[in-house]
Amino acid sequence: MNDIIISVKNLRKNYGAFEAVKDISFDVLEGEIFGLLGPNGAGKSTTLEIMETLRSKTSGEVMVAGMNLDLEPNHIKKIIGVQLQTSGFYPGLNLLELIELFSGLYNQEVDAMELLQLVNLTEKAKSKYKQLSGGQKQRFSIATTLINQPKIVFLDEPTTGLDPQARRNLWDLIKSIREKGTTVIITTHYMDEAEQLCDRIAIMDEGKIIALASPDKMIDDLVTSGFEKPKPIKSANLEDVFISLTGKEMRAE
Ligand code: ADP
Ligand code: MG
Repeated sequence: MNDIIISVKNLRKNYGAFEAVKDISFDVLEGEIFGLLGPNGAGKSTTLEIMETLRSKTSGEVMVAGMNLDLEPNHIKKIIGVQLQTSGFYPGLNLLELIELFSGLYNQEVDAMELLQLVNLTEKAKSKYKQLSGGQKQRFSIATTLINQPKIVFLDEPTTGLDPQARRNLWDLIKSIREKGTTVIITTHYMDEAEQLCDRIAIMDEGKIIALASPDKMIDDLVTSGFEKPKPIKSANLEDVFISLTGKEMRAE
């Protein structure tokens, strides 16, 4: 059994009179990929940003790696990596220069090429951020979350808007981050992605957690309840065709 790395207790967030997060409690275990799923407006980003110390909470208690969010937000910032949804990278700098800039901000020595290697962007080292494709931008922004060698990485919809290939490339990247012992918290709208990647998922709806378990357990529970899916007529789907035609390997894009 892994240790608890994040503990959220009775968390609430109101925006004025609107209750965006309604008394949720959950734990994230060290070394797992934890998914937050739910429709738009469910409160996923709000919950994430509170854990990231970027948004205030209305009430509740959040502990991150043994530190209380209310007492030690600056210590928490040092051990987490946050992927911002709209990355405001200096458009005129190339990737190496951007990594140097970030490592300076974090006061961390990093091997920029090794970091780019990890996200398969060494060929783009001298390219400007604005010249990258969507998938490459996402991979680069994930690379920047790793500069301070965080214990926990937060990814808010990292694969939204990517083509199927680029999504799969990102899955491999996220798995490799976890394999190094980093805890990953991710939000996604793609159920196949959650099933592939996440050890456990919490499903949120209208500010509440309505289910929390491993994907396997959730599926088993549904089947046990008598749910039956119509048998598939074909053993492949159009996405399989797309992947098969365009090649599974990580492309240069
Ligand atoms: P999700 O990420 O699950 O789509 P969010 O956490 O972004 O959901 O938003 C939850 C709810 O809170 C939504 O109804 C959203 O409109 C509202 N909300 C988010 N941010 C603000 C804000 N700064 N001011 C007022 N309402 C907000
Ligand atoms: Mg969101």
